[in-house]
Amino acid sequence: MADVTIAGGGVAGSMLASILAGRGFRVKVYDIMRSYGKACGDALTIREGFDRIVEETGSYKGEVHSFTVMVNGLEAASIDFGHRVWFIIDKPKLVNGLREIAEANGAEIIHSRWSRGKAPVTVDARGPYAWNVDDGNSVFVLRYIVESKWDPRHALLDFRTRERGFYWIFPADPDGRLVNIGAGFEEYRKLDRVRILVNKYAGNMLGKYKILDERGAPISIKVPVTLWSGDVFRVGEAAGLVISTAGEGNRPALESASALARALTNGWPDKGRVRRLYKKGVSRLVSSVKLSRTLLSIVEDSDPQWGAKILSGLPKSFWAKYFTSTLMPKDLIPLALKRPGLGAIAVRSLLSSLF
Ligand SMILES: Cc1cc2nc3c(=O)[nH]c(=O)nc-3n(C[C@H](O)[C@H](O)[C@H](O)COP(=O)(O)OP(=O)(O)OC[C@H]3O[C@@H](n4cnc5c(N)ncnc54)[C@H](O)[C@@H]3O)c2cc1C
Repeated sequence: MADVTIAGGGVAGSMLASILAGRGFRVKVYDIMRSYGKACGDALTIREGFDRIVEETGSYKGEVHSFTVMVNGLEAASIDFGHRVWFIIDKPKLVNGLREIAEANGAEIIHSRWSRGKAPVTVDARGPYAWNVDDGNSVFVLRYIVESKWDPRHALLDFRTRERGFYWIFPADPDGRLVNIGAGFEEYRKLDRVRILVNKYAGNMLGKYKILDERGAPISIKVPVTLWSGDVFRVGEAAGLVISTAGEGNRPALESASALARALTNGWPDKGRVRRLYKKGVSRLVSSVKLSRTLLSIVEDSDPQWGAKILSGLPKSFWAKYFTSTLMPKDLIPLALKRPGLGAIAVRSLLSSLF
């Protein structure tokens, strides 16, 4: 089995390392952080097999069953699935746990910056830092963990069309005592401004709250989907795999890492075959990422009032697919036929998903 170098042991890199090392690949992971602790909303859209990962890493913190959508502070939709749709995870535990599994399977984790050294298989998994985070394709996002009161199975998103972003309120424990509240806006590139806004929002929405932890990080919402650059494969955010309209990067990181691991297992040493298998393995994910980019660009190109009207008028069926991350370009066709103005969205989305 081949030597594999993975740059970055975050969600995608540690997942990839844990699988490949278990299959006999000789894996080295470089990460600048000895222990993972990046800011996150800690939501993970549930997919087959995620139970096992969450259980094995002991990272379960709760689960979300119902959602409220707000647009510019006004309730637009609410949806109760009656079953769990997201896990709330202790993300450092998930990532550090996957690193431990990788090490137990024989991977070597090196706590230093990737020096761009290459192995027969090299994978860029540096997350947003695989890109220039100051070039306008990333948003700086802030989150607080606060002590307050919140339904532990409920999540809220409040889209802001003028600021081009959203606030979120997610549970952070199964008891309704800890809350993850945060925001990111394209309009505000400095965390100082976002901090003031999140504080104000927390006061309005939660009443009394006490900040226990504050963290911020960039998220690359507009970088091009790039599954490899030259002979370096890419996974997770380094591959541009983030659902921009939701800031969802955890599931795409796990899914792309699993897809590349499958492709390497079945295709190596034929690099062309590995590429074909990897591309096929992430094709649905890539379509949904491209769709999210198109939707984002439409909201951005439109007048904030028109954007608010469109968002507020979307039916429950749209939000059901949004929260389960199953929205596909074809889902916009019935919407477009029913709602004038959405036709352009459907056409652009369908075109974008073809390329
Ligand atoms: C505040 C915030 C809230 C979020 N909330 C959610 C959410 O609720 N749900 C969701 O699905 N997504 C969320 N996201 C997005 C999600 O966190 C990321 O998309 C996800 O972590 C991407 O995983 P990754 O493995 O690609 O990158 P990362 O998890 O960022 O891992 C990258 C790793 O590379 C390492 N690294 C960086 N540079 C180098 C280098 N030069 N050499 C070696 N190592 C390096 C880093 O230390 C890190 O460990 C949020 C993002 C932010 C910022």
